[in-house]
Amino acid sequence: MILDKFSLKGKVAIVTGSNTGLGQGICKAFVEAGAKVAGVSRRPSTETEQMLGEDFYNIIADLSTCDVIPEIIEKTVAKFGRVDILVNNAGIIKRQDSIEFSEENWDSVINVNLKTVFFLTQAVGKQFIKQHSGGKIINIASMLSYQGGIRVPSYTASKSAIRGVTMTLANEWAKYGVNVNGIAPGYMATNNTEALRQDGERSADILARIPAGRWGTPEDIEGAAVFLASEASDYVNGFTIAVDGGWLAR
Ligand code: NAP
Repeated sequence: MILDKFSLKGKVAIVTGSNTGLGQGICKAFVEAGAKVAGVSRRPSTETEQMLGEDFYNIIADLSTCDVIPEIIEKTVAKFGRVDILVNNAGIIKRQDSIEFSEENWDSVINVNLKTVFFLTQAVGKQFIKQHSGGKIINIASMLSYQGGIRVPSYTASKSAIRGVTMTLANEWAKYGVNVNGIAPGYMATNNTEALRQDGERSADILARIPAGRWGTPEDIEGAAVFLASEASDYVNGFTIAVDGGWLAR
């Protein structure tokens, strides 16, 4: 039956940035779909833990360095026995005019949004191959995987690159039964966009351009995340799906 293909029963997912925002929503959706979730966060995911109980396991790790990667895999396998799904959701943004953009604002964003994402994905890819199981990778991209943005050059660079890397890995790993796809959220009401939403003029401009007429929410991302994590998307590979209230169609 078609709805059975969306089930994540028996699957184990790693979701980064599990304490808040889109990551928390994805953890909730995966557990509702039947999965066990290892949520990675630099601060305790207390609220997510309370929401999801024993189907959720919190791993504390700062993803600004790749040193934490082996521990993330080891702890997930020790707790839940395997890995079937990885969602690279954790991400940061730094806003500054490009003419003055600092090296720190460049490096910090590229490290979390791109470098650690690639090497965590590589480690999970090795685990999939070891398990002979195939698997699903979902990279959380952005409108700025498709557009330039303003005052966020390192964010745009990281999110454009992650869309490209999604295609590269899909090409290389399809032979192992691994799907690598992305989700490009539109403008979502989370901590990531708090500064933007507080800027009256920018906020009104953005809202006026969203065909749906509202900011997105973590719930809006859940359907696409479960689809890309499940058997229902087995023939979808290398693509970054926009969940944007129609923004890119404008
Ligand atoms: P958010 O509420 O700020 O969540 C970002 C998550 O990443 C938080 O859990 C954050 O932890 C975590 N994180 C950041 N740096 C980390 C590090 N060094 N180590 C471990 N975890 C780290 O924003 P969000 O909107 O849910 O963002 C989730 C993803 O969606 C990001 O990749 C973002 O770029 C992308 N996105 C968001 C929007 C939007 O409109 N909101 C649009 C397009 C794409 P802390 O809470 O400790 O900071």
